[in-house]
Amino acid sequence: MTFPRSATIAEFRSRAFIAIEDVRLQTALEGATGNFRAAHDRALGALPHSDELRDHLKEIRSSTLAQLADHLETFESNAQAAGAQVHWARDSQEANDIIVAVAKEHGVKMVTKTKSMATEEIHLNQALQQADIQPVETDLGEWIIQLAEEPPYHIIAPAIHKTRGQVAELFTQVSGREQSSSDIPRLTAEARRMLREKFLASGLGITGANIGVAESGSIVLVTNEGNAEMVTSLPPVHVVVMGIEKIAPTWDDAAAWLALLARSATGQPLSIYTTAITGPARPGESDGPQELHIVLVDNQRSTYLGTTYEEVLQCIRCGSCLNICPVYREAGGHAYGSPYSGPIGAVISPLLFGLERYEALPHASSLCGACLDVCPVRIDLPRMLLQLRADEVEIGMGPRALKLGESAAAYVLGRRRLMGLTTAAMRLFQRPLVREGQLHPPARLNPLGRRQPPALAKKSFHDIWQEGIED
Ligand code: SF4
Repeated sequence: MTFPRSATIAEFRSRAFIAIEDVRLQTALEGATGNFRAAHDRALGALPHSDELRDHLKEIRSSTLAQLADHLETFESNAQAAGAQVHWARDSQEANDIIVAVAKEHGVKMVTKTKSMATEEIHLNQALQQADIQPVETDLGEWIIQLAEEPPYHIIAPAIHKTRGQVAELFTQVSGREQSSSDIPRLTAEARRMLREKFLASGLGITGANIGVAESGSIVLVTNEGNAEMVTSLPPVHVVVMGIEKIAPTWDDAAAWLALLARSATGQPLSIYTTAITGPARPGESDGPQELHIVLVDNQRSTYLGTTYEEVLQCIRCGSCLNICPVYREAGGHAYGSPYSGPIGAVISPLLFGLERYEALPHASSLCGACLDVCPVRIDLPRMLLQLRADEVEIGMGPRALKLGESAAAYVLGRRRLMGLTTAAMRLFQRPLVREGQLHPPARLNPLGRRQPPALAKKSFHDIWQEGIED
């Protein structure tokens, strides 16, 4: 199976249909997203003043973006003062070139990585492989999908769609030893054994950054497996890849961010490991890298500052909007053709990678508003989905049939007599399809059998109004 990095209408539809017809996948998705939702609700419910905290975080994210350049410069100078080397990357190519150059300078042949959406976004693994450098993912879910040669299925749970059996099969192939799907502790022990060898042999560790704290030039990493501690302390060189929007001006701001991040993502008050790193190892310290490089990636982000889309840069990548979204829960992560899936992916993928390439995603939403309700930063994703749809119309995109239909509707709606004749004809044609006041279109037009719009009323509002006047 190939995974194109795009989502045309046809691609999204066909990938979504494959997911919808896969009963095992649907059960796994509903179970996992349902568990995340329940844990999220319990955690937020138990947090005093959670609504006020969400408002506070929104204010922090919004005011930070309003002066992002200043905060980034503060972050850069404090990180350099702590001994880090800071690099600026305009796009994926520049970011990958910087990282490959650092690896080559140190003669590195193999790197270990933590889960990082920023590195997925820039396709770092492919760039490393092209430079004959082997990337090894060390987050268990990320490693599983690396072995399966698939993109992540979910922002925080990349292998959410894999069964125990599939994982055992992958581990059998890699280890050369038969693995049993019924023995989960043995499977995880096998993963630990295989990955530990990689940690020890790695010449360079690569992580993302959940937060960059400007006032100290530190980065904060949030994980549950402890792999980030190995990746950042065993190899002699550590490279951080961070989107430029992930800045908190102060530690107080970072604390508000952390108070909501794990609760929104997994329902934990804090993830098991929350690690702050400021500069490389100091003289006399036995752990930690001798060199720390921080790559600040723009990749189109700065073009949205001050625009109607700036709000999307407030995202803290908690994944809550995926878990609540009825479209994501049915269509699955791979339908989006992007490292970012679900409602946040439907907005950010067209913005970062091109509306033409991701034309289907603004429409992959029922606009129910659940993503806005659940988002810890109250990002108005439905508003931006509508804006993207408007942008598509503005630049003449969209399905030809839809455009023809809209033109025909505009023509009819503008002519009273023609409108009356058309609705009379439609009332006639709909008769065989009406049951209990609802239309049941043929299966070809309604393949999932889920759309039963109301039938046309016997009399239009206009007719009733006219009759009322005449009475
Ligand atoms: S948009 Fe909101 S809910 Fe979705 S990942 Fe970002 S912060 Fe979380």
